[in-house]
Amino acid sequence: MKVVSELLELRSVRSGLESPVGFVPTMGYLHEGHLSLVRQARAECRSVVTSIFVNPTQFGPKEDLAAYPRDLERDLALLNREYVDLVWTPEPETIYPPGFQTWVTVEEATQRLEGALRPGHFRGVTTVVTKLFNCVDPDRAYFGQKDAQQSLVIRRLVQDLNIPVKVIVCPTVRETDGLALSSRNVYLSEQERQAAPVLYRALTAAQLAFLDGERQAEALRKIMSDTVIAEPLADLQYASCADPDTLIELESRVERALLSMAVFFRKTRLIDNLLLEE
Ligand code: AMP
Repeated sequence: MKVVSELLELRSVRSGLESPVGFVPTMGYLHEGHLSLVRQARAECRSVVTSIFVNPTQFGPKEDLAAYPRDLERDLALLNREYVDLVWTPEPETIYPPGFQTWVTVEEATQRLEGALRPGHFRGVTTVVTKLFNCVDPDRAYFGQKDAQQSLVIRRLVQDLNIPVKVIVCPTVRETDGLALSSRNVYLSEQERQAAPVLYRALTAAQLAFLDGERQAEALRKIMSDTVIAEPLADLQYASCADPDTLIELESRVERALLSMAVFFRKTRLIDNLLLEE
């Protein structure tokens, strides 16, 4: 496994990799969710490239950029075990050179849900992903359903800018109690960790009602929010039942929907989602 941080070195090693090249962009502090993407890339591609870059531009001024967990040595050991060919760990100055002023924005899909609550977040994501794609030049790129809106926005970006990459969205990996794996789970106290599966409980309660015949979007949202409100350590930010393609909130009969939510445990903000289909 080669580990490079300079762009020239990346391009040189990349040019010697066999196609198809699969790419898994991450912010590091890897867990089984990230590794599931790496494994899928490994199974489908001749070469696998991973990047580790905590992208400053996707964090808001009051968010956790400085505190974001990092452990490069451990990450590299995990990736080595998965037979990754190349890891790119760019410096912030490589991605954002002095005088940087060119941004990539996806206009509509970023206005709702996470985008509405985290202004500028998706502009940071789409800009860095475009740059990572330009530098790595992968054939396939792997993202997690855990960040459903991000995956949707990246599909849109790739289509709209004719980027020659196939985007593959992989299922959410969970702990046995349902909590979606996330690098941010380390912020949770022991008690908060006990309470955190409430997101998945709320989503599955709404899913169960849907499978039992409930088709009113508002009723499904209420099942989610009532479940979270009953958990004293959880502070619900939103519970959404939206069109999975446009992310517009559904008001009428539900046939397909993306159920999604964001919940605070003190300062730690967790998100999760489930796709409903008849
Ligand atoms: P991050 O390091 O948080 O930027 O995540 C890198 C990639 O891993 C993104 O495509 C995420 O959607 C994906 N990911 C994060 N958590 C999970 C999970 N629990 N299951 C599957 N994919 C995940």
